[in-house]
Amino acid sequence: MNQENKITKPNTKYIFVTGGVTSSLGKGIISSSLAYLLQSRGLRVTIQKFDPYINVDPGTLNPYEHGECYVTDDGAETDLDLGHYERFLDVPTSQNNNVTTGKIYFEVISRERRGDFLGKTVQVVPHITDEIKRKFVSLSYESNFDIIITEIGGCIGDIESLPFVEAMRQFRWDIGEHNSIVIHLTLIPYLQSAGELKTKPTQHSVKMLQESGIQPDILVCRTEHSLPVDLRKKIALFCNVQQSSVIEAHDAETIYDVPLLMRDENLDEIVLKKLHIEGTPEPILDKWMSYLKKLKNPKSEVNIALVGKYVQLKDAYKSISESFIHAGAHSECKVNLIWISSESLVDNRWSEKLENLDGILVAPGFGERGFEGKINAVKYARENKMPFFGICLGMQCAVIEFARNVLAFENANSTEMNPDANYPVIDMMEEQKQVTHKGGTMRLGSYPCVLKEDSRAFDAYQSTQISERHRHRFEFNNKFLRDFEDNGMIATGINPDTDLVEIVEIKEHPWFVGAQFHPELKSTVMTPHPLFIGFVNACIEYSKQL
Ligand code: GLN
Repeated sequence: MNQENKITKPNTKYIFVTGGVTSSLGKGIISSSLAYLLQSRGLRVTIQKFDPYINVDPGTLNPYEHGECYVTDDGAETDLDLGHYERFLDVPTSQNNNVTTGKIYFEVISRERRGDFLGKTVQVVPHITDEIKRKFVSLSYESNFDIIITEIGGCIGDIESLPFVEAMRQFRWDIGEHNSIVIHLTLIPYLQSAGELKTKPTQHSVKMLQESGIQPDILVCRTEHSLPVDLRKKIALFCNVQQSSVIEAHDAETIYDVPLLMRDENLDEIVLKKLHIEGTPEPILDKWMSYLKKLKNPKSEVNIALVGKYVQLKDAYKSISESFIHAGAHSECKVNLIWISSESLVDNRWSEKLENLDGILVAPGFGERGFEGKINAVKYARENKMPFFGICLGMQCAVIEFARNVLAFENANSTEMNPDANYPVIDMMEEQKQVTHKGGTMRLGSYPCVLKEDSRAFDAYQSTQISERHRHRFEFNNKFLRDFEDNGMIATGINPDTDLVEIVEIKEHPWFVGAQFHPELKSTVMTPHPLFIGFVNACIEYSKQL
């Protein structure tokens, strides 16, 4: 490593989490659960995700391919795993918590163009690996973390993650013994025909890691059945790890059980021992346990429609569905989400699909497909006084529906859907009109908002000053604000600096709230989001009327 790249944070320890055998084993949940256990022992912990794809960030990826795009306070469009990190740790992440191959190359190529390499040939080793190593430590300069957990996306053996693995190998030497460990998450499949758990895929995956010069310290084994002692012994023997470091990760009823399952397996203690961190107290898990208790013992139940166009892939609305779990537990209510494709809400029997529900949420989104179905969903909620929650595009739909059907603004629309609309009640933000590039150019990240006291929003937040995260190009067109307010749709949340309408509500309705921002990005286990709580409570009330 060059002198300029020397790692100089001896106090921070590093945990790398890799995955083997298959993707989707839940590295994000295991990392978050471990981080939570360490945090509950008083350690300062953060998690970062390294993704192997070439996109600079996931902002331009179709949600069908990559699930939802998670936005941080500082306006980065990131991987949805960062959502898990925040939901478990209750600590905000930043743009430095998500690095992609694209970001690394972008940085190195920009430096090459500036002439920083002084005639040298720029290569994967050392230039790309040096840049990756710089990113491994960058969070330690942001805050005084005791431990940084780095999740390496993809699977060991993938061509595209090789530079990350090589950088990890070098980095572990650079920072010296006992300052880092590697946890490898793997699958122990159950062969129905043989009636046996099979360790061979894990053996192969560990061999592949070893070929790259990395010996994992701990194996976390995803399994549908308990791992008997002899199997743990076998895995330990063939994979060159201690038997106590073979951790069982049994399929869980809810992801929120995983911290406790990992605790039962002593994962946190083993990690601390291997990192030579001594003297931390036992983890305090009372609050987590009481959350789980409420989650598992609901006193009521509601059915809420989630209307969106990406409903086939539930990950596209990950933060929304998790927010309902947090708010439901808070109100001791089981929230059943009824996933409804907005495209299905336009035939002549569309309204039947919304009958017998307790509330409707219209989800964020982009573009025309499924748009008119969302408008119908709003209409149904408004007319039937059913609790309604619109998020981002969902809020814009609420405005358009009100314009068309209450204000009689014929064909009112957003200029996103119809640039020539007669009544452009939702229009592109002024600052967006000059934007030509798509990546990272929306109105992103946290902005302040001031609430009117006589509102559902204020009832929920119990404060007039809030701050929420955004991701949009279009906004409420203030030219029409008077028409709306005179007829009962009130702007109850306004950005104090730009006058942008951030929340609309219908006065004569039990609970009708549209938010231009994304409340779902700030809901955590320990701090469920006030608007989700307000909405769930309204749905509980509504369900009692039926
Ligand atoms: N497409 C809308 C806009 O850009 C809404 C975006 C969203 O729902 N995130 O303003």
